[in-house]
Amino acid sequence: MHKPALPSTFDLPARDYVRVVMVETSHSGNIGAVARAMKNMGLGNLWLVNPASFPDETSYARSSGASDVLDHARVVSSLDEAIEDCVLVMGTSARGRKVPWPVMSPTDAARQVGEYQGRGQVALVFGRESNGLSNEELQRCHVHIHIPTNPDYSSLNVAMAVQVMCYEIRMEYLRGLENSENNPQLKPITAPGDTGWDVPAATVSELEGFFAHLETTLAEIDFHRRDNPRQLMTRLRRLYQRARPDQMEVNILRGILTAVQKSTSASGRGDGGRKQDQTNV
Ligand code: SAH
Repeated sequence: MHKPALPSTFDLPARDYVRVVMVETSHSGNIGAVARAMKNMGLGNLWLVNPASFPDETSYARSSGASDVLDHARVVSSLDEAIEDCVLVMGTSARGRKVPWPVMSPTDAARQVGEYQGRGQVALVFGRESNGLSNEELQRCHVHIHIPTNPDYSSLNVAMAVQVMCYEIRMEYLRGLENSENNPQLKPITAPGDTGWDVPAATVSELEGFFAHLETTLAEIDFHRRDNPRQLMTRLRRLYQRARPDQMEVNILRGILTAVQKSTSASGRGDGGRKQDQTNV
């Protein structure tokens, strides 16, 4: 789908690599308010997963002149589509979940977003007004961001949550400008995408390919029981997403899985002796 390029009035470098993803928004006024919040902070890359109504009059009215963000917005039919080319996905949530995930404050998340400049696309994902993001959607994210609200009344309006995050990203950018004048620093090499790292970061779709391969292989060797999965794949997902593997690392992991598959099918082994216990998973 061809979309017009964002004009240079969007003044943050992050406008080129950070996208705001809104999942199944039910009130189009919130989409307009998000466009406004983004443009105020110098960002403009908006993705909408199955919005109830868009584009419409209400969204344009509430955007108060940020109509260019709405014109440029992409509408897609799944979260996968919105994040598949991303190397970092940050999901936002007003509440904790059963299996805790790495959770960052908005300020730390914005710092991390700043560090990803030049590494690839970054997505900030926001949930439905009614019930936020599902556990499955949150598990697609490398980290979660919680805006530290009143624990007894923790849920912000979604556009206000977007505003907080875009503000933090802008502040991080402004602090960086201040520092770079007086205090140029050597950039450490810490992760794929940093100058000096040898292989590009893996995208979401590459990691998803690995997870599917891992699940199949673990089922084949009877380590993973699909009729009784417990939290195994969730915990493995969390482990590998924490490591932020690069493309070659993902290829190596998949190569290992293929070798396991070949050797089990060659030996024609049944399941004797191979059943590892998942009791503690
Ligand atoms: N009632 C829903 C909350 C929906 S609020 C629930 O209990 O899950 C809509 C969206 O705004 C959330 O999915 C999240 O993206 C964002 N949001 C609201 N409050 C937030 C908070 N305190 N921290 C991070 N994101 C928040």
